[in-house]
Amino acid sequence: MSNAGNKEHARREAAAKIIAAPQGFKICESCGSIVVQKTDVCPNCNAYRFDASSAAVIAQAELLAARAPLSVEHEDYN
Ligand SMILES: [Zn+2]
Repeated sequence: MSNAGNKEHARREAAAKIIAAPQGFKICESCGSIVVQKTDVCPNCNAYRFDASSAAVIAQAELLAARAPLSVEHEDYN
């Protein structure tokens, strides 16, 4: 049992959720984080420009799920 494994699993679940409902999310154009649609300012880098296209959100979610942690889970920063 490792925490890293749990975190990995959580990230994949988060990505699956995003891919299932990409219209609820958008991508920070500055750092590439996926944030919820209602977010006004990126919780990671404080940028305020976002790409809300579903295709871009899905592509980014797949990328983040496949990779080492970048910055999907904004709850890490709370
Ligand atoms: Zn950002």
